[in-house]
Amino acid sequence: MKYTNWQQYRDSLEIVLPSPLQALKLAESQWHNPNNCGVFVKRDDAIHPIISGNKWRKLTAQLRYVLDNNISHVISFGGMYSNHLHSLSYCLNQMGVTFTAIVRGHQEAPSTPMLEDIRNWHTKVIFVDRVTYQQRTAEDYLAQLTTSYPDAYIIPEGGSHSLALNGVAEIVKELQALSPDYILCPVASGGTLAGLVNTNTKASCIGIGVLKGKGYLESEVSALLHTGDIQREPASCWRILHDYHHGGYAKRNLELIEFCQQFELIQGITVEPTYSGKLMYAVRDLLANGYFTPNSTVVVLHTGGLQGAR
Ligand SMILES: *Cc1c(COP(=O)(O)O)cnc(C)c1O
Repeated sequence: MKYTNWQQYRDSLEIVLPSPLQALKLAESQWHNPNNCGVFVKRDDAIHPIISGNKWRKLTAQLRYVLDNNISHVISFGGMYSNHLHSLSYCLNQMGVTFTAIVRGHQEAPSTPMLEDIRNWHTKVIFVDRVTYQQRTAEDYLAQLTTSYPDAYIIPEGGSHSLALNGVAEIVKELQALSPDYILCPVASGGTLAGLVNTNTKASCIGIGVLKGKGYLESEVSALLHTGDIQREPASCWRILHDYHHGGYAKRNLELIEFCQQFELIQGITVEPTYSGKLMYAVRDLLANGYFTPNSTVVVLHTGGLQGAR
């Protein structure tokens, strides 16, 4: 399939927007809520079965750029379970654009459902070791890639690029009627949080670090904010909480896994332990500790990505 313009491709996807907003059942779940807050989940996981959540928000402008500029080859980066590579591979295959995925891992390591899918979608997978992967934002490494693949357009890990910010800002527009006091999201490469902050929302934007990244994550978000068009930084309107990573990226324990199962059972919303599970766990804890101002409206962004839990 080959699409000649963005609107035509977008229409073909049957995207569900605005994404649904769902109130959390706090009484049924027996969560403590001493400050009587209202909590809503912004169901970006419902946008599309494959390009769900923040990946839709972050990638739309970049996919559009690829189509509008007749780009024939894209390169991007991710791990063996990457939701970003999965979404991107799916779209680029439909758009008829060659995709090379630089994956942190080993050829000999057992494959993952994510890798199986993207290979079926004709993505070329190149494995690199940890040290090479760390070069993914280094200027000379990127220059080398450009020399090897002169026709390729490079999309950063997680799609966290200045072009992603306005896509994420759509979430804030969809929340206008509710006018939340807080918006919470998970943070891994920072594009989602930066996109929420780079708006005129009055809400405090709170990121839950899903990896051990104190300092590092803040600087990633700041760097993206400097590329944005609304300079709210370094105002005190955003922060990242680092107490909920459960030992690091993709680290989990029995308590977290049981929490995810219980959450799904009561709320009817599936969460996984890498992103949305850690986020909801943090929300329960923050509510119980009276973190939010009394009677405030809290929106929790479900960033999707359920494929990674397979
Ligand atoms: C990629 C991803 C994130 C991380 O978002 P960043 O913008 O990279 O901080 C969060 N949740 C899910 C489900 C993801 O797939």
